[in-house]
Amino acid sequence: MRTLAEYEVLAAAAHGHMCAGQILGLRMAMHGMELLGVEDPEGSDRKRLVTFVEIDRCATDAIPVVTGCRLGKRALKFRDFGKVAATFCDLQTQRSVRVVARESSKQRAKELYPGIGDKNRQQMQAYREMEPSDLFDHRWVRVEIGPEEFPGYKGQRHICAECAEGINFERQVIRDGRTLCRSCAGERYYTLL
Ligand SMILES: [Zn+2]
Ligand SMILES: [Zn+2]
Repeated sequence: MRTLAEYEVLAAAAHGHMCAGQILGLRMAMHGMELLGVEDPEGSDRKRLVTFVEIDRCATDAIPVVTGCRLGKRALKFRDFGKVAATFCDLQTQRSVRVVARESSKQRAKELYPGIGDKNRQQMQAYREMEPSDLFDHRWVRVEIGPEEFPGYKGQRHICAECAEGINFERQVIRDGRTLCRSCAGERYYTLL
């Protein structure tokens, strides 16, 4: 593991700026690694982890900096629950821990640094120093991860009977005996013009 200061440099480069959310995300991931006993997420523990994130905000960008779990590697999973929380799954020990930012952390930052008027700077300073127990709550959980969710899954490709586009990772839906993509099955998030 690197130090928080070292991670901050990497996170700022990846995210485009340094902010309180980045510090929170870095600390959240470092806490998760500590709870799991993962010591070298970038090296020998590289393939041990899958991380679920529950919000698409600043903190989320910082998490792969520590865990090495990236969306394109299938090791980062996004569940859009709008919560500053992440679940770190250790595939080696089959243990998973969900870490959530405490609602009180902003208020605590205010109490610690009332003299810093700028909220972002106030929170950055506080989030660097606060105890994990002041920043986060955590629970040990079980996460069912199917084989098709794993990095490196090699499965059959399917073709949608409606749009003829290819579907990977068993994301097809069988409707009245037809193989459909999720889009044609009714989950389309866009309207064709
Ligand atoms: Zn940010
Ligand atoms: Zn389709």
